[in-house]
Amino acid sequence: MRQRERADKVLAWFRRERPVVKTELHYDTPFQLLVAVMLSAQCTDKRINMVTPALFERYPDACTMAHATAEEIRQYIASVTYPNSKSKHLVGMAQMLCDTYDGIVPDTPRELVKLPGVGRKTANVVLSAIYDQPRIAVDTHVYRVSRRIGLVPRTANTPLKVEEKLMRVIPEEYLADAHHWILLHGRYVCTARKPKCHDCGVSDYCKYHEQQTRKLAATPGDKRPQK
Ligand code: SF4
Repeated sequence: MRQRERADKVLAWFRRERPVVKTELHYDTPFQLLVAVMLSAQCTDKRINMVTPALFERYPDACTMAHATAEEIRQYIASVTYPNSKSKHLVGMAQMLCDTYDGIVPDTPRELVKLPGVGRKTANVVLSAIYDQPRIAVDTHVYRVSRRIGLVPRTANTPLKVEEKLMRVIPEEYLADAHHWILLHGRYVCTARKPKCHDCGVSDYCKYHEQQTRKLAATPGDKRPQK
């Protein structure tokens, strides 16, 4: 199956089965989304949603947070991963946002990635969710699942290459949803260690599943994976 055809079939399945999809992070403002996404690096959304209500109540906007110390912020995010560096990044980000952008989250990747602690993935999440820009953020789930299914070739071996290939194969109007579809599929079905292929709605279009099935069929004592 060619890449475009595979992508069309996979996207059609998600559109049909998951018509409404959004981030699992809780937020009310662009600033809060930016903070939540920064905190979510190598941590679970569930954990982030446990700490952000108190954090956002105490620091509702960039200019309030800009006046905090990293130590003060750390007390609110002590249970997330890397609280020391994340609290420093949050204060630095809030200060730059307040000083340079009047507390408004900028709408270009060039400006966003200049904020302390903000990388390309975080910038793309914000630009897509807040500013409706046709971008796709590639996190660890999107990277793994896109390669497994075969939405991108195996030669796409960096997050940037995967992003560029996905931008070519996914129609613009589905990019934002595709990020969530693929990410949530990776979180709950196509998990890193043991993908639940028997319980996967897109297995008919998945390259990895195709290869595994072929491999097992070729081994003596055929043990084909259940669909
Ligand atoms: S069939 Fe398996 S490897 Fe392919 S997307 Fe589904 S869970 Fe992942």
